[in-house]
Amino acid sequence: MEGCIFCKIARGEIPSAKVYEDERVLAFRDIDPKAPAHALIVPKAHFASVLEADAGTVGALFEAAKEVAKALGVAESGFRLVVNTGRDGGQSVEHLHVHLLGGRALAWPPG
Ligand code: AMP
Repeated sequence: MEGCIFCKIARGEIPSAKVYEDERVLAFRDIDPKAPAHALIVPKAHFASVLEADAGTVGALFEAAKEVAKALGVAESGFRLVVNTGRDGGQSVEHLHVHLLGGRALAWPPG
């Protein structure tokens, strides 16, 4: 989608620190990490949020998350997957993305 930063990253027009890629999904390090391991897992196709996404896309993101966790070395120690959605959910980029956070014990519940 024109003007979407994650679409531009997925097309290679903006650089990113890639940690995983397959046909449908790209994962890269968050530019402002909230944990020692913090990656964003995004579909290459544009969906504004999880509300728009089909089951195949959501499944592909979670399948990719398993590989990202291994690539970042947190599959054993544990990690959290977060999908911020809409205003109250704290979504700031309107392209569906799954945060993978790990590398330290994470507080629960979130603020
Ligand atoms: P959210 O607030 O859930 O929409 O998350 C958006 C995330 O995208 C934030 O954690 C930002 O730090 C991250 N972000 C924004 N621009 C970039 C970028 N160019 N490369 C990597 N991460 C980014």
